[in-house]
Amino acid sequence: MTTPLTIDVFNSGYKPIPAGPGWDDGTPATWPASTSTLISGRRDALLVDALLTVAEGERLAAWVQNSGRRLRAIFITHGHGDHFFGAGPLLDRFPDAQLIASDQTVVAEAQASTSSQHMAFWNSMFAGQLASSPVVPALTSSHEFDLEGSSLAFHTIGRADAGALATIVHLPQLQAVCSGDIVYNNIHLWLRDSTAQSRAAWLACLDLVAALKPRTIITGHQDPDAPDDDATRVLDESRRYIEDFEQSLARSAAPHELIEAMHAKYPGYGNRYSLFLAAQTQFPS
Ligand SMILES: [Zn+2]
Repeated sequence: MTTPLTIDVFNSGYKPIPAGPGWDDGTPATWPASTSTLISGRRDALLVDALLTVAEGERLAAWVQNSGRRLRAIFITHGHGDHFFGAGPLLDRFPDAQLIASDQTVVAEAQASTSSQHMAFWNSMFAGQLASSPVVPALTSSHEFDLEGSSLAFHTIGRADAGALATIVHLPQLQAVCSGDIVYNNIHLWLRDSTAQSRAAWLACLDLVAALKPRTIITGHQDPDAPDDDATRVLDESRRYIEDFEQSLARSAAPHELIEAMHAKYPGYGNRYSLFLAAQTQFPS
């Protein structure tokens, strides 16, 4: 008998950040709400992604402790700081847990995210809130993870959100996927500095996740009030968002036109500042 697995999701909510010039939305600029997912058996657990700030890492560590499970590993889906800079407090509380990634490129991109240049970028938004030298995940040689007799699979998918190499965790037993930033749930997609080519690469990643035929997808960024984790809905909406962005961009002469067109199509989506940044970068002056 394999142990039945359960999934629990921690959502960070939105964090205020300093707004760039031109932001006049009437709401604070924020960083997208992020998730960390605990996959549990009866005794043990694997955590997927580890959030950004020290305070978030501490809250997450207490939440994991509260589950009563022994944390064996923290899997990092891709090398962006908002998915692993918060790991320190977890590793302090669970010293036997390993911080892992399943692709050498993810390790290298995570390492690059801790360079002084990248840390300056993160500290410009989260001054005093981040680990000074975040722990970087180590490469795990196995693409299978045994959780009390149930097998979890790590897959490398491709380049999605902001061009990072994206990996996922597939839970065949639950027909579930932890998608990292390939799929978004009720929140504006991160299309800052994206190009027609990078958006096409992202769409191809969505197709590869869909091919696994999941019923549930836990997305790396998710509005705290998102209605559900239905795989078909979040895949369809993420695909349509990228296609709508492409079409609206072609019809827009300035950022505000693109922003208005996308707001009309996605009025309930969270983190409007992501769309503002995406639009700003599409019209080089
Ligand atoms: Zn992210």
